[in-house]
Amino acid sequence: MLEPACQADVVIVGAGVAGLSAAQRLNSAGLSTVVLEAAPHVGGRMATEKIDGFRLDRVGRLLFTSYPELRLTPGLDALVLRPFAAGVLVHAEGRVHRAGEPASAGGARGALDAARAFVSPPRRLRQLPSAAEPVSRAYPPLGGALDQARLSAALGGIAAVPVERLLARPERPAGRALAARGMPARTVEGFLRPLLAALLCDPDLATSSRCADLTLRAFASGRLCLPEGGADALPELLAGALPPGTVRTGVRATAVSTTSVTTAEHGELRCRAVLVATGARAAAELLPGLRVPPCHPVTVVHHTSDEPPTTDAALLLDADRRGPVAHTAVVSQVDPSRAPAGRALISSTVLGVPPADTDRAVRAHLAALYGTATDRWELLAVRHTSDAVPAMLPPHDLRRPVRLLDGLYVCGDHRDTSTVQGALHSGRRAARALLKDLGAARPALPAPPLPTPTAA
Ligand SMILES: Cc1cc2nc3c(=O)[nH]c(=O)nc-3n(C[C@H](O)[C@H](O)[C@H](O)COP(=O)(O)OP(=O)(O)OC[C@H]3O[C@@H](n4cnc5c(N)ncnc54)[C@H](O)[C@@H]3O)c2cc1C
Repeated sequence: MLEPACQADVVIVGAGVAGLSAAQRLNSAGLSTVVLEAAPHVGGRMATEKIDGFRLDRVGRLLFTSYPELRLTPGLDALVLRPFAAGVLVHAEGRVHRAGEPASAGGARGALDAARAFVSPPRRLRQLPSAAEPVSRAYPPLGGALDQARLSAALGGIAAVPVERLLARPERPAGRALAARGMPARTVEGFLRPLLAALLCDPDLATSSRCADLTLRAFASGRLCLPEGGADALPELLAGALPPGTVRTGVRATAVSTTSVTTAEHGELRCRAVLVATGARAAAELLPGLRVPPCHPVTVVHHTSDEPPTTDAALLLDADRRGPVAHTAVVSQVDPSRAPAGRALISSTVLGVPPADTDRAVRAHLAALYGTATDRWELLAVRHTSDAVPAMLPPHDLRRPVRLLDGLYVCGDHRDTSTVQGALHSGRRAARALLKDLGAARPALPAPPLPTPTAA
């Protein structure tokens, strides 16, 4: 039974995907849980803005169908993924090429493999077709036949390597490891470097080579995809599957202990354990002494046009680095629900510090990348996040401790890999540690009301 003064077994601070994934597991195991979220909505960095019929993600949009936690996290049964076209398009040496398609993409074998991937246990993910696939034959492949065969074999090889073996490889900055891979310079500079920079949000590729290998493995064994309806579909599903009243938005935690959380709005909540599930910087404010990794800044720029460029629902990477855009896509071709009828949504990502006149510089670069005039495109939003993605510099610990003390736990992408997969996985690890300490005894109780607000 709860102590009389306890408002919940566990209070979780932060309703990003890490905190919500932990809440799902704790609740399923019978522990009563309250999730406090400072913002007026759930999702954290996975937030989506709705403006004039458009759904604009604050974040880059690069999930993989191969992320295991998308299938393992309870509450995501209704998640629908919209895949990009297989492989990517790369703007290299002044023109667009296709690259990185699996050898079987588009054929009957590819369709069969994709179908198998989604009926494998423990749960099927719903994957809807995108507008066009595979990447249009209109674009020439990157490199000659030998280059393509070597790349295809390398991607096939990394998809087959067990994760433990990848993690046992020597660790160094990814940029240096790439140079030593024995791949042709055109493949490295024209495909691997821009792909990894985009996926890791790290233009300098200072990231640990082990994390880069994991990312390449996810690319080679799955498809880039978007949650249908916006990035926030994922946290909304997780929050919606919790008992009513579990998630309290607009409540900021100001202090935590092993048995209580103090909030700015509702005074103190007593509990048996506390899980801090905020980003790294906010976690260190609540838990002094916690290391804050350096973070990669990311800017996402959204434009609309009534004459979309034709890229066949592919992700377009920039390898030439003659402008600020690292990657871009006509997102509404991948997921039509993100734009009103007759309009296209083009979302582009700038890594690092954005240029002073971001819209002008991005628009000029997009004109070169898509090979079309962009002056009539309308700017919808520019969203900059300075602490977007924790850097995973070598040596990177992929399993940073989630149990700090008996009663005090921490999760979030900064404890694992700096991805949605890492955030969900850290939530799972934290829930496991909590369940071990507290035990899972009885059916979950409905969440109790918060104490009466204190005077401002
Ligand atoms: C621009 C951008 C692009 C990205 N691109 C990709 C990508 O392509 N692929 C990918 O996999 N990942 C990407 N990511 C990373 C991914 O979004 C994160 O890894 C993931 O969303 C982190 O989830 P989280 O739950 O750990 O943290 P968060 O989402 O940060 O959630 C923490 C929550 O805690 C709340 N909070 C903070 N302090 C308090 C407090 N004191 N009291 C109460 N609540 C508090 C916050 O409001 C927030 O809602 C990107 C991120 C950004 C910003």
